[in-house]
Amino acid sequence: MSDVAVIGLGTAGAAVAAQCARRGLSVVGYDARPLEAAGARWVNGVPAWAFDAAGFDRPLPPELHGEGLEFHLLAGWGPHRVVCRDHDLMEVDMRHFHSRLIRLAQRHGARLHGETKVTEVPDARFVIDATGLNGLNLLGRPKLEPVDICVAAQEMREVRDQQEARRFFERHEVEPGHTLCFSGMAGGYSIVNLRFDGEHLGILTGSIPGAGHPSGPKLLADWVAENDWVGDTIFGGSRALPLAAPPVDLVRGNVASIGDAAWMTHSAHGSGIAQQMLSSRILAESIVIGDLAEYEYRWLRDYGGILSGMDLFRRFTCSLDEGELVRLMESDALPAGGTRKILTQRLPLMAPSDLMTAIKGLSHVPRLAARFLPVMARLPLLELHHRAIPRGDRTGWERRRRALLRL
Ligand SMILES: Cc1cc2nc3c(=O)[nH]c(=O)nc-3n(C[C@H](O)[C@H](O)[C@H](O)COP(=O)(O)OP(=O)(O)OC[C@H]3O[C@@H](n4cnc5c(N)ncnc54)[C@H](O)[C@@H]3O)c2cc1C
Repeated sequence: MSDVAVIGLGTAGAAVAAQCARRGLSVVGYDARPLEAAGARWVNGVPAWAFDAAGFDRPLPPELHGEGLEFHLLAGWGPHRVVCRDHDLMEVDMRHFHSRLIRLAQRHGARLHGETKVTEVPDARFVIDATGLNGLNLLGRPKLEPVDICVAAQEMREVRDQQEARRFFERHEVEPGHTLCFSGMAGGYSIVNLRFDGEHLGILTGSIPGAGHPSGPKLLADWVAENDWVGDTIFGGSRALPLAAPPVDLVRGNVASIGDAAWMTHSAHGSGIAQQMLSSRILAESIVIGDLAEYEYRWLRDYGGILSGMDLFRRFTCSLDEGELVRLMESDALPAGGTRKILTQRLPLMAPSDLMTAIKGLSHVPRLAARFLPVMARLPLLELHHRAIPRGDRTGWERRRRALLRL
């Protein structure tokens, strides 16, 4: 019998297989798709610190498409914006990162099988459900509400007319190579994020169709239809991803869940890869000591606070219309430093000076201030609450967590 059976070898499953195998555990893994087609097949933004913390080498080209790029976050179609510089966000080609993880796991003896759809729980000391949002759901989670599901699309495209591409970015005051992200153009959570690297164009779109907005693929198709300088798709894909605060049960018996299957996404921008790397390390270390409860405890203690806080923040921004979003950005209530922290998945705690700026900036929109400031105040409370998670009975703790998450 193997020590670990990993079901689903997307980024989360491949990361667990690699982390377990390199710690000397015997690992078997399965994916319904061919191994070279499993998981995300697009370009994702991932903060560099997460590779270090998870114990994976940072990506290099061709896996790395860019790093530390200016990030222009526009309210609606602009021109109001916040610009983030000096950050460690990397643009990572997930096809390459995934095959790096698969190779690492195999080099350490993991037996990984593609084109093998699992229908029964395999016989192993520990079983990992990494089958994604609509996978096996071995922990029997309730279905997510449609308003907590983002449908995103990302594609790399040819550029038919380089001059026109340059003119487009110039009009929006973004140098080629940097990121131009329109936000809230189709409701609170929607984005059209563009990056022209001088040769190709990366397009990332996403929204919450359950809140009545066009899906990411529709936003992408509509935007491309209006910009005839954009050429054919080189690679990319689309999928639904979870946005709700992570549940407090990650383990049942000898089964643990991870990744999108466990709703481990940074809700403010629907990012799952950093969390998958970080949790794969904690999971493997817990399996080595034969204690899955340790995985649940450590992950919730270390990352549950920020993910819960970002769910609260995301639900708040979803409740804003475009006018309110513009007013929030114009007010400097969330200065570039705070936006940078959110972008790179750090806790956007407000220093007293930031708080004074926010209060001053929002003084002419008191109703918006009355909604925004309590949300920001609850972020450190959620963090502290998770840092104090009990090892035993969590009933009272969970009740207080739910209260802190109420918008
Ligand atoms: C367009 C888009 C853009 C995104 N951008 C970012 C970003 O910029 N930054 C970021 O961090 N995140 C981003 N994300 C989120 C990130 O890509 C996901 O969180 C991540 O890919 C999920 O990985 P996973 O391994 O948990 O699940 P999945 O990728 O869904 O993998 C699950 C795997 O399980 C397999 N499987 C399912 N059922 C079975 C079964 N019964 N038997 C065997 N195998 C099975 C599937 O074939 C699949 O390969 C984006 C997502 C999308 C859709």
